[in-house]
Amino acid sequence: MALTINDDCTSCDACVEVCPNKAISVASPVYVIDPAKCTECVGAHDEPQCMTVCPADCIVPNPDFPETKEQLMEKYHSLHG
Ligand code: SF4
Ligand code: SF4
Repeated sequence: MALTINDDCTSCDACVEVCPNKAISVASPVYVIDPAKCTECVGAHDEPQCMTVCPADCIVPNPDFPETKEQLMEKYHSLHG
């Protein structure tokens, strides 16, 4: 399941650089995660790095993109060749 950013985002910028898939973009009023690129960090890290660094706890699962761990791994490999 891709993650998404809710309205509590303070645009602090902490999450952008830690994303292994470059899935997070600066946007207004809150930053945005591209569900086509977010793998919950599967393939790169043991846990979602953006959630780890976010001081606002505003990064949550995106129920519109239910995916298994295997599908997330396939997405990761398709992104990174
Ligand atoms: S969970 Fe990982 S891949 Fe998804 S947006 Fe956060 S840092 Fe990027
Ligand atoms: S780390 Fe959290 S509060 Fe900061 S920009 Fe990212 S989503 Fe927003």
